[in-house]
Amino acid sequence: MAKFWFITGSQFLYGEETLKQVEADSKEIVAGLKLPFPVEYKLTVKTESEIEKIVKEANYDDECAGIITFCHTFSPSKMWINGLTLLQKPWLHLHTQFYDTIPNNAIDMDYMNLHQSAHGDREHGFIGARLRSARTVVVGYWKDPEVQAQIADWQRACVGVKFSKSLKIVRFGDNMREVAVTEGDKVEAQIKLGWQVNTWAVGDLVEEMNVVTESEIDALVAEYAKLYTFDEKDMAEIRYQAREEIAMEKILVREGAMAFSNTFQDLHGMRQLPGLATQHLMAKGYGYGGEGDWKTAGMTAILKAMYPDGATSFMEDYNYDYKHELILGAHMLEVCPSIAADKPRIEVHPLGIGNREDPARIVFEGKAGRAKVLSLIDIGGRLRLIAQDITAEKPFQSMPNLPVARTMWKPEPSFLDGLKCWILAGGAHHTTISYDISTQTVRDFARIMGIELVVIDKDTTPVQLERDLMLGDVIYAHRSFSF
Ligand code: MN
Repeated sequence: MAKFWFITGSQFLYGEETLKQVEADSKEIVAGLKLPFPVEYKLTVKTESEIEKIVKEANYDDECAGIITFCHTFSPSKMWINGLTLLQKPWLHLHTQFYDTIPNNAIDMDYMNLHQSAHGDREHGFIGARLRSARTVVVGYWKDPEVQAQIADWQRACVGVKFSKSLKIVRFGDNMREVAVTEGDKVEAQIKLGWQVNTWAVGDLVEEMNVVTESEIDALVAEYAKLYTFDEKDMAEIRYQAREEIAMEKILVREGAMAFSNTFQDLHGMRQLPGLATQHLMAKGYGYGGEGDWKTAGMTAILKAMYPDGATSFMEDYNYDYKHELILGAHMLEVCPSIAADKPRIEVHPLGIGNREDPARIVFEGKAGRAKVLSLIDIGGRLRLIAQDITAEKPFQSMPNLPVARTMWKPEPSFLDGLKCWILAGGAHHTTISYDISTQTVRDFARIMGIELVVIDKDTTPVQLERDLMLGDVIYAHRSFSF
């Protein structure tokens, strides 16, 4: 369980009474924060050694996903330098104040000294800037729901970071032959994101499939029956997918992995490409990327960890409708039912690729709504995360001969410029689609991880984006020398 620590900055200058008040007020602020993950008031720090000690404790506490600091009084920041240079957890600087107004009669010099966040937090801001710390700054009155929403967005990013740092990804087979964008530096991914990406032989998966029992399959098919509709005539294919799912999950559980990839070019000994099997694993929280795409598998798993009840899936851009200005997104089979508009249906149809038997798959239309598509690419020397705002719409036609899960969306800033920006940035055809993540959460995640971020939204223009991409080359060339 992720927890967050609240640390208040002060000093001994104002006496014991003031410090008692600072502590009581800090506890009231923490109690007033309504957030998705718990925040614990830890300490009002007064000295360099207290700060260093609590930072070390935060670093080694497995549950602590980040620290929130606030300087109620003036907290001189030289005393923060040694602690902050040791900090290994995400940091949010909450620039707030205990009261939202200045009381006309009550204000005197004592009141000023007690409530001087405007002063103390600027010293705190300076040292964050001076240390080039990758911190998140949230500004505003702590009771304001908008301020709390920003803290919540940061918490989601921290939960993703915490999950990412121990993420294991199982590759069943290698990358699809000749495909470039799904390749990448797995060592760099582990250094930056913590991902352990390793391969398992398809033959080992088949051995695991062979020992799955009929009663294990019965239990999983009963679970399918609660969630999806299907015809009894398709039961043999559905049971085969259940066998594949159970075997894959046993390997994932054994390895402590929360994401996986496979490829239709390496299904040796398997009768069907996993469709329903992969889709149901995604619905349970596993990340997936097709054709060996471990980067999209990892990002999908992280988004699912950030939003356990959210709508998140592996996705692929397939066709354009220039007339209706829409992108058709789908995959051969593997789209997560968490994005379905209605109760999904299991169907069995031929698959013209992979040279295997007709696979069972879950078919549905994606729901309408605001969403984002995210693509993590290896641009050479660094990882680049691209996030584009989109609006998903109900498909305008039924496409009866396309029996896969599918959705349609319009990219920002406009259909054509949205496509142009994506192509300029080098975004993949594979993405993670999320209906939950905010731009702030994406920004916080990339900042904490130290990876390049390209946001494509309503304000992006291709001209400005080209310049930003060139700037990125300069910035990251410099960074590789400085760190
Ligand atoms: Mn694909």
